[in-house]
Amino acid sequence: MIARKPTTTPSETSALAAMSQIRQPLWIFDIDRSRVHWANTSAMEIWSATSLEELKARDMAKDMSAAVRNRLLQYQDDFESQPGTSFCETWTLYPANQPRSLQVLFSGYRLADGRMAMLCESLGVHHADPDNLRSAEALTYTSVMITLYHADGYALYRNPASRAAAPESGLVHRQRFLFPSEYDELVTNVERSGEGRVVTKIRTSRGDRWHELTARKCRDAVTGHVAWLVSEVDVNDLKTSEARAQYLAHHDTLTGLPNRSSVARRFQERLAEIDRRGGRATLVHIDLDHFKNVNDTLGHAVGDELLVHVASRLRQVLRGEDLLARLGGDEFLVLAAGTEGGDHAATLADSLMGALAPTTFVGDTHVRVTPTMGISLFPRDGRDIETLMRHADMAMFRAKTNGRNGVAFFTSDLDEKIRSRVKLENDLRVAIDEGQFEVHYQPRVDSRTNQVCGAESLVRWNHPRRGMVLPGEFIAVCEESGLIGTLGAFVLEQAARQQSAWKAQGHDLAISVNLSPRQLADPRLIETIEEIVARTECDPRRLELEITESVLLGNDDKTTHLLKALRAMGFSISIDDFGTGYSNLAYLEKYPIDGLKIDRAFVAALDRASPIADLIVTMCQMLKLKTVAEGVETDEQLRWLREKGCYEYQGFLFSPAVPAKTFERFLKPPTITVVERA
Ligand code: C2E
Ligand code: MG
Ligand code: MG
Repeated sequence: MIARKPTTTPSETSALAAMSQIRQPLWIFDIDRSRVHWANTSAMEIWSATSLEELKARDMAKDMSAAVRNRLLQYQDDFESQPGTSFCETWTLYPANQPRSLQVLFSGYRLADGRMAMLCESLGVHHADPDNLRSAEALTYTSVMITLYHADGYALYRNPASRAAAPESGLVHRQRFLFPSEYDELVTNVERSGEGRVVTKIRTSRGDRWHELTARKCRDAVTGHVAWLVSEVDVNDLKTSEARAQYLAHHDTLTGLPNRSSVARRFQERLAEIDRRGGRATLVHIDLDHFKNVNDTLGHAVGDELLVHVASRLRQVLRGEDLLARLGGDEFLVLAAGTEGGDHAATLADSLMGALAPTTFVGDTHVRVTPTMGISLFPRDGRDIETLMRHADMAMFRAKTNGRNGVAFFTSDLDEKIRSRVKLENDLRVAIDEGQFEVHYQPRVDSRTNQVCGAESLVRWNHPRRGMVLPGEFIAVCEESGLIGTLGAFVLEQAARQQSAWKAQGHDLAISVNLSPRQLADPRLIETIEEIVARTECDPRRLELEITESVLLGNDDKTTHLLKALRAMGFSISIDDFGTGYSNLAYLEKYPIDGLKIDRAFVAALDRASPIADLIVTMCQMLKLKTVAEGVETDEQLRWLREKGCYEYQGFLFSPAVPAKTFERFLKPPTITVVERA
């Protein structure tokens, strides 16, 4: 409000002249300007003023606290909005720095220029004892809202803070509660124990706000009637930040879906509801296949955008009452009540699959993600959410083993299978720690001379009880659990060491090592290999890295870079088990590849005159790739290979993989074998 210079009109002059006659101290306080506008003689005495002019000249704002200032502005509003309002309070003035406590009645006074000022009427000097005075002051200035309510809910007294917070319309206490049931509960507690406390939403002059409210039963000191003394503290900011923290704690900020921590409670509650109705339900654990590739190749921003799309597509095929949560990463969880008739779970899985089937446009590319889903059924597979989640997870594991982009249901035998898989994983960790792995070497033989020209290093698990365990039993688990990183590095280091050692003995052998897709995806692979080369002083030109066709799927610049980097270090690259994977011939030209290993299935098929091995050998010759035949078991197979111009083979016909010491028997006397690179 802009304070204009106060003027005194003739009618005001006569009003003031009349008030001058009154013996009771009276003064008018200009709230906007924080100055006395007028005072009668008795008031001037109270203020120890030498003259009216001197009193009017005093700047009261100087010693005025913000609390008093706000309170005066509140009074000004009250006088404007509720004409005739007056308040009586004990006020302590400090004329000449001496405290003087007065009982003062305040009411609105319209100045000649139209502004609202305050007429102050002293009802006498207050002679209360100092403690009372101080408590009255405290009551006046505190930000705690203190109200004395009549038993029927009308306010008998409000301190200034309470008055400021009360909405304009004179609501009874219960009407101030946004949730009246909380008021009723408070009443019950106060009736029972004399006191009650609640944190609840209250209608206030500043809108609906969170108040912490303590109510105590007492008596009105004036009438002696039963009353309620209520003190309230505004905890709105605290409560909103708490609510935000709660929301954040229970929601995934990216998709806005409930997160893992809220699943336990919300999903369990829904399950209990379904149970009460005697219903059935389906829990679906959804995992996006190879989502990591999206993050790695297109960046995290695109990955995030894709997750948001996935969440909304899943939501679209669900009914309103079905629950959807994001468990973290690329995992989602759905709980849907079963419907009567039909196979609800299978239908649900179909529609979830269907929802994700179309490609999504994110960043500036079309991306397709396929889900793998594990399903458990309530109540058949479990009665509580933890069990159902565990079982859906196991089903998911089965779906992944079946080759992803599919659905699997939990069955009781899975439990046992998973248990043994978990045990296997633990045993493998121990095996790595305790050095139970060793590397065997299968001779690679020149089909023309029958001389050993190299070796493939194949890992073996020398199990303390079971003896020698073959990789078929554990490589996949190592791959899935990430243990392959450590194991693969171990095998490579052993092979590199062996290459060095044989070289020193005069045997120049090319040694091949299998690299798993997970190893190739490890950003530290090059670094790890460099360290191994440095440590073992091997010759990388005599080491061959065998990769699988799956690694070459898709047009991946990263793979090209990686393979080029490995080749730049001297390694040669060959594709293992060729013909069993995707066999996209285009990548044979696209990627830097030195050779192929024909899968033993085709070699075995030679006995049935398979044209595929023929085709592969011819193709390799055209592309000038070195060809190695795997799994050669018969002389006929060897003869055929030789005739076809495939000059290198491995197989039981010559020898299975054996320990290095045994292998050396094939080498004596030392020979220098020259392996031609195609
Ligand atoms: P692979 O790389 O294709 O290795 C050839 C497999 O064929 C070996 O099985 C070998 O013992 C077997 N084999 C060789 N000649 C014959 C034959 O004449 N007849 C038959 N029936 N089989 C023959 P192994 O050692 O059991 O290894 C199986 C697979 O495990 C390997 O196939 C390879 O994919 C993987 N593997 C072995 N060691 C490692 C390793 O250190 N790292 C990784 N990532 N994978 C490994
Ligand atoms: Mg191999
Ligand atoms: Mg192979």
